[in-house]
Amino acid sequence: MRSASEWSWIQPHKGVITDFSVFLEKPDCRFQDVGGCEEALRVMRKVKLYLTDDPAFQEWGPVIPSGILLVGKPGVGKTLSVRALAGEINRPVYAPPPTAFLDMWAGNTEKNILGMWKAAEKNAPAVIFIDEIDGFCSRRTSGGSEGSNWYNRAVVTVLHLLSNIREAPARVVLIGATNRIEDIDEAFLRPGRFDEIVTIHRPDVRALAQIWLIELARAEQRALRVDFLSEQLRRAIRCDRREWVETHTAEGAADSSGLMAVARLCEEKEFTGADVGAILRGVIDNRVLATSEMGVNLGPITPEDIRIQAELYERPQGLDDSCRVS
Ligand code: ADP
Repeated sequence: MRSASEWSWIQPHKGVITDFSVFLEKPDCRFQDVGGCEEALRVMRKVKLYLTDDPAFQEWGPVIPSGILLVGKPGVGKTLSVRALAGEINRPVYAPPPTAFLDMWAGNTEKNILGMWKAAEKNAPAVIFIDEIDGFCSRRTSGGSEGSNWYNRAVVTVLHLLSNIREAPARVVLIGATNRIEDIDEAFLRPGRFDEIVTIHRPDVRALAQIWLIELARAEQRALRVDFLSEQLRRAIRCDRREWVETHTAEGAADSSGLMAVARLCEEKEFTGADVGAILRGVIDNRVLATSEMGVNLGPITPEDIRIQAELYERPQGLDDSCRVS
């Protein structure tokens, strides 16, 4: 729950946002921290070249993506891919919740949208990321009721901005994410609007193995214990991730780390990257509680600990129900 002072970016009683910097998020990761998501990362690499004025981009003049829409179930890496793009160009991301723009008073919603755009332009190169964008551009009502009129005007403002990006490139990109593409007003999906639509699928066994290596390396960095991970896991996370996965998914490859068995189990159970993070958190929590409350040292984390936790893990209820993307 936000405190009253945290809402100070809105002018009292007027619903106009005055300070867009409150939406800025500092990126803390890079492309190498994303497992799988190849197509999304390919698009993000292109956007990186555009935002950094790369000579290759100018030389070949590819079409500037007006808007990019990432589509996929919760927890598959949509937000992470955008944070990684921001990390690569070392710029913060504006990540307002879609509802932040909306105001019942005539003109305020449009003012907020344009204000967001101007703030990003001033701060270019910049990325605006709107998660769950279906909450904002889900359907355009053409009826004449007052309630739908402000919505129409807001939609028209966004469509206008998207169309302008190509004509007057300002090194600002708008990236939206949704798991309900069928709810998005089709006016947003026409060429020149959200014209790069990338579906991020649930990770396969290779991507899951990569995600395990990423999550384990990150967790090891946070811990003070030198023997945080078992010897086999420590050795695995020191390798080049892609190479490690290539080698260990080859026909008849042996796997002394036990990680591939964990990745296979996660694939079988249709887990996402977010589930991998939650499973590892569970393993670490058990270590913390055993140490602190029982004074027991369970020793380094092993693949068997992870396997048992993955068997026990249940995805928080409701997440699947909200997903309509395969
Ligand atoms: P969403 O698709 O809902 O935006 P996120 O990108 O926010 O999902 O993922 C939540 C967390 O799960 C990430 O911060 C990361 O720790 C983990 N995760 C999800 N997908 C991946 C992935 N492809 N590679 C690495 N970590 C991932």
